[in-house]
Amino acid sequence: MGRRSTKPGVARVSSEAEQQCVVREANEAVSVLHMALAAGAQRLALRCECGDAGCVACVSLTRGEYEAVRAYGSHFAVGVNHENPEDACVLSESARFEVIDVIGGDSRYHVLARNPRHAWSERSES
Ligand SMILES: [Zn+2]
Repeated sequence: MGRRSTKPGVARVSSEAEQQCVVREANEAVSVLHMALAAGAQRLALRCECGDAGCVACVSLTRGEYEAVRAYGSHFAVGVNHENPEDACVLSESARFEVIDVIGGDSRYHVLARNPRHAWSERSES
C-alpha cells in the first residue's frame, strides 16, 4: 500500500483525510458482511468517520442511511459534533449521527480519489 507518507505542507489535512478513507473502507467491509447476514431496516454499527485517529466512537445507521451517505464520495457519517469545521460542513444531523461533506480542497480531492464506490483513474491498487 505504502500510503503512510504524506506530502510536506499538507500533512495534517492529508492524514485526517486518509484516516477518514481508512475508516470508510472498514465500514464498507462491515456493511458488506452485514448485508450477507441481515437485510432490511436493522442498523449497522459503524466506526465514526470523523478522521481523528484517536476516535473510537461508533455510529449507528440503517442501511438506507448508510447508502445515502456512501452515494457521495465526499460524504461521511460521524458522531454528533465530531465534524472538523475547518474541513467539513454538516449536511444533516440526527440524534445518532451527522452527515458531513468534506470541503477542504486537499482533503476533498483525497477522499474523492479514494472513494471505494467510484474509483478514479489515478487510484492504484498495488
Ligand atoms: Zn469521531
